[in-house]
Formats: sequence, structure tokens, C-alpha cells
Amino acid sequence: MMQVTSISEGIVLDHITSGNGLKIFSKLNLAALDHPVVLLMNVPSRLLGRKDIIKIQNIKDIDLAMIGLVDSSTTVNVISGGKIISKHKVGIPEEVRGLFKCSNPRCVTNSDTYAEPIFHLVDAKSREYACEYCEETTKYRL
Ligand SMILES: [Zn+2]
Repeated sequence: MMQVTSISEGIVLDHITSGNGLKIFSKLNLAALDHPVVLLMNVPSRLLGRKDIIKIQNIKDIDLAMIGLVDSSTTVNVISGGKIISKHKVGIPEEVRGLFKCSNPRCVTNSDTYAEPIFHLVDAKSREYACEYCEETTKYRL
């Protein structure tokens, strides 16, 4: 097992399905952060075979809904003082704001740039979300 600098304050996203690390990295625009970010890919895992890990120094507030949409099996470890102070699975988000577009072309959120689309989970298995404005169901795809 290779050793990579551990962080003392921040967030470690663990158990990311191999290949999804890069998607989360780009969806959260982590390259734009001013803080050190480490993306580890294809790390051997007893649980998953292979997994990806993302370590973000100094950041504790992160878009968990987006992570849950990309990979709901991701574990979020919050690190403080060099120790894990909380650990939980992100799961599939119940409510999503502005992360994808409503599939209804006549929906106000697609014509008015100030109307942020808000979706509520309808079916976790198929990743279907209902639009708060027009009630049209949108299936989230990467
Ligand atoms: Zn809509």
C-alpha cells in the first residue's frame, strides 16, 4: 500500500467506485480550489477490489448532493486535528438544487436563468427526480 500525505484538517472521500473519482473531481471543480487536493485512483480495496479516494485539505463544506448523484456509496470522512471526527455514507440525495436541467423544455427553469431548478427524489433506484416548478420527472444521468 502506497503512502500518500495524510491531511490534518479537511475532508477525505473514501470508497469511491473506481473511475468515479475523476468525475467527482471535475463535477465539484476541485482543480479550482486554493487548497491542496489529492486524487488517488485505482487504490486496492478489500471491499471494492479497487477504489478512488479524494483528499481535500482545509475544506469541510462540500456539495454532498453532487457526490451522492455521482456515487452514492462514497464515504465522507471529516478530519480535524489529524483525526476522523465524523464518517458517513453520502447516499442518494433527497433534494437537489441546480445540478442538472429539467427535462421539460417549457419549464421556467430552462428559460429563466434566475430560476434555479429544484428537484425532489421520486425513485432512488432509477434516479428519478421531480421538478418543483413543473412536476416533470427527470432521470439523472452523468
Ligand atoms: Zn421543470
